Amino acid sequence: MSTPSLQSFNTFGLVVEAEELVSIASTDDLKKLHDSQAWAQRQLHILGGGSNVLLTQNLSGLVLLNRIQGKKEVYRDEQVVHIEFGGGEIWHEAVTWAVAQGFGGLENMSLIPGTVGAAPIQNIGAYGVELKDRFVYLDAFDLDSGETRRFLKNECEFGYRDSIFKSWAKGRFFITQVCLELQLHPEVNLRYGDISGVLEQWGIAHPSIADVSRAVIHIRQSKLPDPAVLGNCGSFFKNPVIPETQFEELKARYPEAKSFPAGEGYIKVPAGWLIEHAGWKGHRAGAVGVHEKQALVLVNYGGAKGSEVLQLARDIQADILDRYGIALEMEVNAW
Ligand SMILES: Cc1cc2nc3c(=O)[nH]c(=O)nc-3n(C[C@H](O)[C@H](O)[C@H](O)COP(=O)(O)OP(=O)(O)OC[C@H]3O[C@@H](n4cnc5c(N)ncnc54)[C@H](O)[C@@H]3O)c2cc1C
Repeated sequence: MSTPSLQSFNTFGLVVEAEELVSIASTDDLKKLHDSQAWAQRQLHILGGGSNVLLTQNLSGLVLLNRIQGKKEVYRDEQVVHIEFGGGEIWHEAVTWAVAQGFGGLENMSLIPGTVGAAPIQNIGAYGVELKDRFVYLDAFDLDSGETRRFLKNECEFGYRDSIFKSWAKGRFFITQVCLELQLHPEVNLRYGDISGVLEQWGIAHPSIADVSRAVIHIRQSKLPDPAVLGNCGSFFKNPVIPETQFEELKARYPEAKSFPAGEGYIKVPAGWLIEHAGWKGHRAGAVGVHEKQALVLVNYGGAKGSEVLQLARDIQADILDRYGIALEMEVNAW
C-alpha cells in the first residue's frame, strides 16, 4: 500500500487522490488480495500507465496498479515467435526490445504510451497496424471469481479502438499477460502516413524494422505533445464511422471533408478534421484547451481539473453534433 496521490500516475497530470493504491507484481498478488479483507465490498479500479483515463474525481476503493513484468518465448517455428509479455511491461519498451531482437511486427506502434496489459482494451493501433494483427492470447484474472482465464483472439472481438473489455467484460478482468506473434523475417509496412517520406528524406532505400521504428518515433514526436511537458491523453475522441449516404451529404456541404474507407457502405471521418474545421483547434478555456497543432488532443496547461477537461469535451461533442450531425465518441475512459 502506498501514497494515494494519482497525479504522477495519469498522463493528463490531474490532481486526484485514491483511497488506496496497490501495486500488483504478479497474479499471486491478485489472488492474495482477492482473498483478503482489503478486497471485500470495495470498488476496484485497474490502472496501467494512466495514458487513456480522465480522472474527474477522487477514487474510492482500491486502485490496482499493474506492474507485472516479464517476457517469455512460448513458441517458435521457421517464421514466427510467440512472446508472452507481463501486462505491466511498458508498451514502448516491449516494442524496443522486439526491434532489438530483430522480431518484426510492432515497430509501427512505437512510442504509444502505456502498458502491454492495457493494449488489448482498446486494440491500440498506429500507422496501419493494430494490436489485433499481432495478438495470440491474453491471460486475465477475474476480479469477481478470483479465477484466471485465457482469452483467444476471436473471443476478444477486436474492432476499431474496441474489444469486449470495453463492453461486457469492462472492469471485470485484470489482464496479467499478453502473448504476441512476431515475425522472424520481418516485412516492413510503409503504406501508412509519412513513414516512407521520412525514410526517403533520410536516404534509406531498404529500411529495417529499426529504421521504421525511428521514423515513427520521429513523426510522433513532431506531431503529438509529450505528456511529460503538457498533460494529455493522445487522441481524445474516436474517428466517427458514418453511413456513406451521410458522408455524401457532408461532402456536398463541405467538399474539403476528409475521409477513409471503413468497410462496405461506411466511411470514417477524421475527428481531428471535424474539430479543426469547427474552429476548436488552439481553443483555450482557463487551464484546459485543444492542442494548437493537433485538434484531436485535449490538453492540461497546468492545474486543470478533470471535470473541466470533461466539460470541454462535452462542449466540442455538442458543437460537432449541431454543425455536422455527427456524434463524437470519447476514446479516453472518464472515471
Ligand atoms: C501522447 C499519447 C499518444 C497516444 N497515441 C495512441 C495511439 O497512437 N494509438 C492508440 O491506440 N492509443 C494511443 N494513446 C492512448 C493510450 O496510450 C493507449 O490507450 C494505451 O493502451 C493505454 O495504456 P495505459 O497502460 O496507460 O492504460 P490506462 O490509461 O492505465 O487504462 C486505460 C483503460 O484500460 C484499463 N486497463 C488498464 N490496464 C488494464 C489491465 N491490465 N487489465 C484490465 N484493464 C486494464 C483501465 O482500467 C482503463 O479503463 C496515446 C496516449 C497518449 C498520452
